[in-house]
Amino acid sequence: SSHMNDGNKIALTFDDGPHPVYTPQILDTLKEYGVHATFFLIGENAERNPELVRRILREGHEIGNHTYLHKNLKEHTSGGIYEEIALAEEVILRIADQRTKLLRPPGGLYDKLVCETAHRLDYDIILWTVDTLDWKYRNANTVRDAIMSKSKDGSIVLLHDLHGTSVDGAIKAIEQMLAGDYEFVTVTEILSRDGT
Ligand code: ZN
Repeated sequence: SSHMNDGNKIALTFDDGPHPVYTPQILDTLKEYGVHATFFLIGENAERNPELVRRILREGHEIGNHTYLHKNLKEHTSGGIYEEIALAEEVILRIADQRTKLLRPPGGLYDKLVCETAHRLDYDIILWTVDTLDWKYRNANTVRDAIMSKSKDGSIVLLHDLHGTSVDGAIKAIEQMLAGDYEFVTVTEILSRDGT
């Protein structure tokens, strides 16, 4: 049977924010087009920009825990890993009165101990399927092209709302892909389709 009308669902994910300049820029575009994304917040940055955390949630996006200080969790003891995750959780809970079950370890780096500790805190580890390398290129058109050429139905796309070029590239991709057969959804929406 044909599922042509279902479109291709893509989850854009923005890591390392909230950033006082670039996060509002991408939020404005997402709002304009009525699409949703997932923001993996660094606890320290959430603490500095609480109103942006609340705006992200108010506008229907999803948030994830990206630890408190963005350290390599593989270099930590169980206690250190626990603290990095739990501190970010505390900040989010305090600001937004809710928690998240999504954890993205900094750099995508994890091992068995990180997994066990994350699960103990009731988190699922979420990586990505498309790496735009936006942090490296720092060029909006290159970022747009990376998103557009690598994304397919079910993709989880890694971006950072720390750089103007990343946000501009994402905006260009959103505008062009929405004209095609694409839909932008949260990570949870992508994962909830697994096995169906
Ligand atoms: Zn990161």
